[in-house]
Amino acid sequence: MSTLPAGDGVTTARGAHGSVLVLNSGSSSLKYQLVNPVGGEAIATGLVERIGEDGPGLLKHKFAGNATVREQPIADHGDALRLALGIFEEVGPSIEDAHVRAVGHRVVHGGAIFSEPTLIDDDVLRQIRDLIPLAPLHNPANATGIEVARELLPDVPHVAVFDTAFFATLPEAAATYALNKDVAEEHGIRRYGFHGTSHNYVSGKAARVLGRRLEDLNQIVLHLGNGASASAVRGGAAVETSMGLTPLEGLVMGTRTGDIDPAVVFHLMRNAGMDVDEVDTLFNKQSGLKGLSGENDFRALHELIAEGDEDAELALDVYLHRLRKYIGAYAAVLGRVDVIVFTAGAGENDDVVRSRVMEGLEGFGFAVDPERNAGRISEPRVISPEWARTTVMVIPTNEELAIARQCLEATGA
Ligand code: AMP
Repeated sequence: MSTLPAGDGVTTARGAHGSVLVLNSGSSSLKYQLVNPVGGEAIATGLVERIGEDGPGLLKHKFAGNATVREQPIADHGDALRLALGIFEEVGPSIEDAHVRAVGHRVVHGGAIFSEPTLIDDDVLRQIRDLIPLAPLHNPANATGIEVARELLPDVPHVAVFDTAFFATLPEAAATYALNKDVAEEHGIRRYGFHGTSHNYVSGKAARVLGRRLEDLNQIVLHLGNGASASAVRGGAAVETSMGLTPLEGLVMGTRTGDIDPAVVFHLMRNAGMDVDEVDTLFNKQSGLKGLSGENDFRALHELIAEGDEDAELALDVYLHRLRKYIGAYAAVLGRVDVIVFTAGAGENDDVVRSRVMEGLEGFGFAVDPERNAGRISEPRVISPEWARTTVMVIPTNEELAIARQCLEATGA
């Protein structure tokens, strides 16, 4: 994207190109990263947790190989950001020295309104708040994060980068639920897709790593983190994705059901005496791998399996079965698959997941070479054998860098 030379973080940050502060506000957390958008490295990273909770909050800040930890009450997101900015001044890098050019905010839901990174003004913030009914678990915290950051850093542009934006290109047939048209229209019910920044970043990167034109490639992207999603990308534009109105649809995830017969909701409400919030919590937080086995982290799941735990074994089988179904479905959507990309926590680190999901798919031209696939992968790598028709790759995702670069584009820098 840029022809500027790569720099070494702080040196570059002090120079003409500066840095971007990327913020990801969750309901009780604030993740931040100061990014050099040119060289691509994280200059400093941090996480504030347990915001607004009983007991002390926790800040962890990393800069120049040193970790700083603070434990103290943190009442709200304003407190959290003030604390983080104070640590920047205390242990570095100073925000002034870092020459922050923009603040990039990860916003989960952009609805049908936002399909591009958007410079934030009062109106945009109001619209993000108006979208809260579509993303009640995420947009409130995102909006609060924006509000406090604009107060504390008033002299730089603030940009919202939406998780849904990359999927604005979904064809109507993929975006539309077969739900009563009037009800769907009145309530904005359609498939939006999430993790778009990651799907966009890794599909672009895959093309560059292969030295191919993005326009020529049909790709399936598998973002397998604690939340997980798949997408079909034709020529750089998303044509299908597994998440829908909310991030609950699709693949089996750490704690989410993914696809489930919607009648299970009626059943639980009629027969188990659950109310809507209980079903919401059950589906989003107590299901998926964790609901099946007690563990949502693949490392723990593999340990249980090694001990002969049958629930853990079934959980992994259910996870892989669903993932394989999506790969097959997206092969049909695309007609031809040039590249399959694995990314995010399990996609980058779990060779068992990568190899087992590809088992038996040689007939489609999909395979994983055991040696190339082995171990955790932290740099882009091809993991398919020479003979395979489809190139299978691991591309580590970097949503913060993608947000930082989109921020600069949005500010015209
Ligand atoms: P993310 O949401 O992208 O941060 O991914 C987090 C998930 O990645 C964890 O819950 C694990 O399931 C998985 N993960 C992270 N590190 C490893 C690893 N070394 N081996 C297997 N799975 C991992």
